[in-house]
Formats: sequence, structure tokens, C-alpha cells
Amino acid sequence: MENTIMKNFAFILFFLLIIPTVSIAQDDITLDSLFDDTWIVRDDIPVEIVADGIECSAVAYQNEADFRIAFWTETSECEATLSYDPLWFTIHGMPTLIDPVAGTEEEIDYRFWDGRIIYQVPAADYPRVIKMYVTSRVLRNRGELTIEDKLKQARTVRWLYPETDSWSDLQDGQVIAQKFIEPIICHAGYDPDSIKQAVIWANDMTISGTFELIECFHNQQHPATQSVVYVGEIEPVGSHIWGGNNYIADFSDFKTEGMYRVRIRLNETNQTSDSNTFEIKEGNWLDLAALSSGWYYYQRCGTEVPGFHAECHADDAVIRDNGEIVDVSGGWHDAGDYGKWIAGGTVAMVSLGIYQEYLGMGDGIEIPRFLEEAAWEGRYFCKAYWDGTFHPGYTPDYEDVCAWLGAPECEPQRLLTEEGAFAARWESPRTCLTAAGLAKMGRMIAPYDPELSEWALSIVDDIYQAHQPLDWSLETLGEDAGTYQYWSNSGLLMIDLEYYKMDGDESWLDDARTRVRNIIEWENHSLSVRSGFQYVALYEFYKFLPDDPLCDEIREAFDNWASATYQFANLSPFQHIGGELEDGTVVNLRHNSNSSTTAFAWGMATAALVTGNADYLDVAEHELQWITGFNPTNVSMMVGAGYGPGCYHHRYCFMEDHADGAVPGGIITGIQAGNDGIFELGDMDTKNWVAIEAPLDYPIMDTDVRGWTYSYKTNEYGMWKNTWFTIAAIQIEEALKVLR
Ligand SMILES: [Zn+2]
Repeated sequence: MENTIMKNFAFILFFLLIIPTVSIAQDDITLDSLFDDTWIVRDDIPVEIVADGIECSAVAYQNEADFRIAFWTETSECEATLSYDPLWFTIHGMPTLIDPVAGTEEEIDYRFWDGRIIYQVPAADYPRVIKMYVTSRVLRNRGELTIEDKLKQARTVRWLYPETDSWSDLQDGQVIAQKFIEPIICHAGYDPDSIKQAVIWANDMTISGTFELIECFHNQQHPATQSVVYVGEIEPVGSHIWGGNNYIADFSDFKTEGMYRVRIRLNETNQTSDSNTFEIKEGNWLDLAALSSGWYYYQRCGTEVPGFHAECHADDAVIRDNGEIVDVSGGWHDAGDYGKWIAGGTVAMVSLGIYQEYLGMGDGIEIPRFLEEAAWEGRYFCKAYWDGTFHPGYTPDYEDVCAWLGAPECEPQRLLTEEGAFAARWESPRTCLTAAGLAKMGRMIAPYDPELSEWALSIVDDIYQAHQPLDWSLETLGEDAGTYQYWSNSGLLMIDLEYYKMDGDESWLDDARTRVRNIIEWENHSLSVRSGFQYVALYEFYKFLPDDPLCDEIREAFDNWASATYQFANLSPFQHIGGELEDGTVVNLRHNSNSSTTAFAWGMATAALVTGNADYLDVAEHELQWITGFNPTNVSMMVGAGYGPGCYHHRYCFMEDHADGAVPGGIITGIQAGNDGIFELGDMDTKNWVAIEAPLDYPIMDTDVRGWTYSYKTNEYGMWKNTWFTIAAIQIEEALKVLR
């Protein structure tokens, strides 16, 4: 029946296009004729339509991304104001007004105000239709929105402005300056053997002079002599779009533990400031690894976190299709909201396992701290696993995963349908890496919690078996082969090693060797930009079987990756790894999430460790120093390691005594790159935007508000950053011991 209507309708339209002067009878235009049963009536999006003294009606319909509003009046032609609350929908591009009687379709503009989309429309006594292309999370098309679309539908917009106010004229092409000269150091301090440099910006001027290290514990005011413990020359390192003429103060050969500031004595200006205060101390990277891994504790869900939040989300549950109600409480809040994503938890669990192994297992009586943390997430994963898939238990409505802005303990129960949980599911082949994390945790926790160990390992077995017989060659899978190679080989290689540690069966090592070869072959075929978990898995093998003949090939693989990466490591004095845009332009800021920066740090540190190349170690240290303040914004992106941006995208800002949003050890997403146009920093779900118009490679960080910021693209915490930071810091610690 509907096909007949559609055919008739299509025929009529076709007819009208050819002979537009002939209009169809308006009696033939009904809602049923316009919307067949592929359309959903959106009763939950009531449309208000108001005309002066005339009664009008309107209804919203949706068919995937095609969203339409039909409107009409009972009496005659009139002008009306039509409005609705779009909920999570955002309009992409220009809507059109369809008059089915006249057979016309023309663009119609709208405005967004007070949370409503508003149209001025000519209503008639038959349905006319506004047609919109909408985006939303469930439609998975939000990436198609343009900056114009977003700003047009903003509830609020806050603009950031490039920092160019300065003490002297800027250099041509310089994009960022300081108000006065302040040596930029790593806020988080240094290991005695670390590379230690301050960057000094002189705009368009040429400067000369010396720098001093002032020891802070025994310093006195004038007229006493300052406690200068080191003096060096500042060295010019050329001009750069960040800061103009750049200089370096290098004090790497100063290795005495203590607390210091860098003071510069210039011949050309006294408009300077001492650097931030910092420490030099043994084990500095290990302290930072502990800080980084300590962050997960504060993210715990389903329990009280003393000093942070009361018990929250204790009743998170999924109602399965078979009627069973599954408890999915526990786990960690991820990022700046109360989502309990499997992806971030997976990599964090792997990282915590590696970190605890590095620290050792303690006395064997009390469960080691970071193993316990991994187990906290692992238990949640076990609860959420069935039918070969992990079902994240936090979002009853996938359209609105970050619904709750307030304190976590105030959010009502999150009761999901199986379909709802499935919307955010974590599937094959990615489950292989989750299984690797569960395998390590399951093996290590056996003496402390045999029941959890058994539960976790049974899931590992299930996933391992499910991924055995598949052919993941390039020939079979085509473009998807890379995805499969990455997740399956990385995950299953790590599982092989864990199985071998448990039962000593050599066949696990045979399988492991096959996977090592697979990874190396794939990297030779298509070298990864980032040293992802395939390299972590390779290093796990290398570490466990250092005398295996395959270790030479693993060493070569790391060297190949690191030498390809190193070409982008010296684009600025900060040695932050840049890269190429798609058109081949080389840029300072390319892989702009700190999850990349920290992953690069791990890769370079590990490459230094296995190849003995100390240049890679310098880069690795500089990548983590970048996180902790040694960057062109002079902001530390890790809470508890220096001076932060002053604002964070975390709902913990709305908890008693935590309005500053600072969660110890949290690492934020990081500096984004200006794109020579308008760049928006987010917040899609609330339509409160933060935007900046900045030149290419301008380093963007939100520092303009206090406590909460809507700018998630720069200032939101996330599991991936802490994951990589922790294992990078311990690799650097090891490489420092070997190479310095
Ligand atoms: Zn919670």
C-alpha cells in the first residue's frame, strides 16, 4: 500500500517538475500522503506554532537524518512562528521549505534562541513541510557539522583570543608571545640525569646574556648574595612562530638534587621573570608514574571516594532481552563525565598491570595498590561481558551519554535495556586487548582473589577461542585487516605470555612468536604513526624473552618506527613531535591529543631502551615534559605536577569542595592547533561553545575561566593519557639508568 502511495507521490512530483504550472489538488495532500511508515512521529519533540488569532498545527517526523516538520492552518494562508526544542539534534546546512501543492522546494533560514529552533513560515490549509538534515550521536554523523552550523545553534559562545600582547614587537609570522620574558621549564621537575632545558622567547629582538640556577632552600634577599649554584650562557636556536627568536638555557649537566628557579640576566632588557620553581630529584619519573596511576582511584564509580564523592551509581544495571537484570555497577568514570567506557578502561587496566609488575608484588599478603585498582575496573568488565561483547553500563540513552552535569551521587539510577547497552558496546576484535588486560590482572590477582581471577580468566578463554580460527590476512579482510591485525595480534600476544606464565606450556610461546612476526610484517607493510599497543605487546615479549632470536627483529622494528618519527621531533625547541598534514605541509602540532604525546613518549623511550640511542630518550623526556608545562602555553596539563590551566572539563567541578575541578594525577586532552580559521573546542551535548580564530599551529589551551569549562577538546581528563603517561614514565626511568 505504502509503495503505491510513494509511487503516486513520486509520479506527481515528477509531473510537477515538468509542468510546474499545473498544481495538484490540495485535498490530496495529507500527512499520510507525505509520510509513509518509514517515518517516525516525534511526539517527544512537540512543535509550537503561533499565528495571530488563527489556529495552526505542526508535527515532527524523523527518518534517519532526515527530520521534517509538517505544519498547516485550519482556515487560510497566514504567517506563523514555528519553534521546537531540538533536544540532541543539530541542523546541518540550510533547511528547505517544501510546498507539495505548488511543487516547490526552497531554502528557509532559522534562528536558535533560548534553546529552541525558530522559523517564520507561511502556513496554508494543507500541510507544508520544513526539511532538515540533522546530526546526533546515535546517527553517528556529528562530524559532518561545520563550524558555522555549530555557532549558529549555540546556546552560548565564549571566544578565546591569541596571546600576542607583549613587551616588544613580535617577529613577522610569530603567532604567540609572552607578556614578559619568562623561561619556560618543566613544572614537574627533573631526574638528576634528565635533559634539562628552559626555552626563552625574545620576539623580534636579539638578546644575549646568562642564566643562573637559584637554589631556593637557602636563598636570601638582597643585599645578601643570592644562592646561585649554576651559571650558563643562553644559546640562540633560531626563530620560530612560537615566541619569535628562541633561546635555550641548558643545565642538563647540573645534577644536584634540590629546589630551584631559573633566573636570566639579559643585556638588552630587564622585562623578565624568574621561571616557575621546580625540583631536581632521584626517581622523579617514578613519582610522576604513581601520580598518574593514582588518578583512577578518584574516578571510581559505585562506591564512595572519601574526600571526593559519596557512593554513586550503585544500582547501574542492564535488563537483558531474556529478562535477567545484570548488575553492572563499579568501574571508573571516564573522562570528564560519568561514562564507563570499555575502551579507556581497557588500556588503563593493561597499563596498571604492567606498572604493578614493574613495581613488584610486595609482601604477597596485602593486595598491591595498582593491582587492586586494575581489579576494580576488571570486575566491572566481567559483569558487563556476555555473548562475546562487553556492554558498558552507564547510558540508558546513547543519544545523551553525558546527561548528568551534577555530582555523581545525585544522578538517578541508570537502568539500561540490552539494546541501550549494546549501542556503546565494545566488540571483536577490540575485545582481544580487553582480554589481555583481564589476563594480566587475572593471573596477578589469583593469590588475593581467586574468584575474580577465575571469572576474568574464563572470559579471556572465551575471547581467545573466539579469535583463533579467523583468517585476518590482507587478502581476506581488505581494508579492515589493519584493525584486526592491531587488536588481535596485540591482545593475543599478551595473552599468550600470560598463559605461559601460568602453566609453562611452550605452545603459548609458539603462538606468541607467530604474532610477533605478524605485527612486524604488518608494520613493515604499513608503519604506524603512533607506537600503539602492538608495540607494547612486542616489548612485553622482548622483556620476557630477551634472548629469543626474534628480539633482533623487535629491536629493528622499534628503530624503524623511532627513526621515522624522529624526523618530526625537532620542529621546535620543545622537541614536541609534529607531523605532516594531508597535503604534505609539515606542522608543529599534528597529533594533538596528549594520548598521542604520551604514546610517542613511551615509543621513543622504549626505542631508546632497546636500541641504545640516547637521542630517542631526549625526545621521550621532552614529550612528557611537554605535558607538565614545557610547552608554548607554559601550562601543566597534569594535575599535581605544576601549574594548570585553572579550568577543567570535569563534572567533579560540581562536587562540594572541588569546584576547581582539579583531580590529582588527571591529564587533560591537551594543546590543540590553530587552523587558520575558526576552531571550536566543544561542547556538542550542551551546545555551549568555546571558539578561537587563530593562525595555523597556534597552541590553543583554555585558561580563561575558573573551575568548569565547556572546552572538552583541550581541558578534559581521559584514561588514554594516564595509561600512556604511566608506562612512558617507567620506560624513561629505565632508559635513564641504562643510557646516562
Ligand atoms: Zn558513579
